[in-house]
Amino acid sequence: LGWRMGRRYVLGIESTAHTFAVAIVDDKLNVISDVRDVVRSGETLGIDPKLTAEHHANVAPQVLEKALNEAGMDITDIDAVAYSMGPGLGPALRIGATVARAIAHKFKKPLYPVHHGIGHIELTSTLLGFKDPLVVIVSGGHTSILSFNLGRWRTYGETLDITLGNLMDMFARKIGIPFPGGPKIEEIARKGRKYIEMPYGIKGNNMVYSGLLTYAIQLIGRTSVEDIAYSLQETAFTVLVEATERALTQVSKKEIGLTGGVASNDRLYNMMCSMAREHGVKVGRLEKKYNSDNGVQIAVVGMLYMKSGYAPVPVEEAVIKQRIRVEEVEIPWR
Ligand code: AMP
Ligand code: MG
Repeated sequence: LGWRMGRRYVLGIESTAHTFAVAIVDDKLNVISDVRDVVRSGETLGIDPKLTAEHHANVAPQVLEKALNEAGMDITDIDAVAYSMGPGLGPALRIGATVARAIAHKFKKPLYPVHHGIGHIELTSTLLGFKDPLVVIVSGGHTSILSFNLGRWRTYGETLDITLGNLMDMFARKIGIPFPGGPKIEEIARKGRKYIEMPYGIKGNNMVYSGLLTYAIQLIGRTSVEDIAYSLQETAFTVLVEATERALTQVSKKEIGLTGGVASNDRLYNMMCSMAREHGVKVGRLEKKYNSDNGVQIAVVGMLYMKSGYAPVPVEEAVIKQRIRVEEVEIPWR
């Protein structure tokens, strides 16, 4: 049992959307194991909640077993279980929560429900070593600008309609690129030469993207797809960067953590960096694998709860909340 050495371990389960994942972290927030299984969405854009839940239920036993094997641990060696409680797809969330409750009940382990977005936030801050960042989450499920203030993570800007990830994926689908379209759009946009003016949707610190999507789709067939992709990206990212700049001037942070699948886009990252440089602010992002949904983000938050002595949730009160907002969550560790 050399691995234990007085260490404590939390097992985290993620199941909000396309990914079913299990990870184990120790109390120094080292990643001990990280196993994921992503549902194949085929031709469809979004994810079908029922098929996704079926996928998660099918792979759950193997993913759990693999995570324990990778760590060289037995389920009884785990000190606590954390699961993503939301926001996300109800049927998918229920699978992760059920697995977590079963383990907690059978092996008498403390149980911590975790807000998925706070998982992205705390994983990003932890791995980047950012103490008090402004966090920008840009994924298929979220487009939000967040900052810690008065005991909670709070939203300082968000999309008022579709997410930045959806914008990329929906446009991609219209030109025949399957999900996830973002990486391919980035490639195509690099060949764009002419900027076409497009609807610039900003309201306060909030983003509005559906008009931009409609406009870009209407241009298909009338001008080069490279120029459309390029202009779409430039417009969408400028809106996000401007909203982030507005939020930044309100909360005056010194670090920006960029996370979520779209954070992998180099053009977006560079635009964010140029804006931040003008304010003497640092921008960081994680390696690609940590931008996507994973179990580590859930395990890390579970460990933060446990280390701060926060009361675990009794199994019968361990629910899911499909539409929970970050502001609803108490943060005892900051
Ligand atoms: P997530 O929801 O965090 O798993 O992220 C998936 C989203 O990120 C999808 O909408 C992808 O199209 C998008 N995405 C991934 N890589 C890139 C990229 N390089 N540029 C733009 N979007 C991306
Ligand atoms: Mg996510």
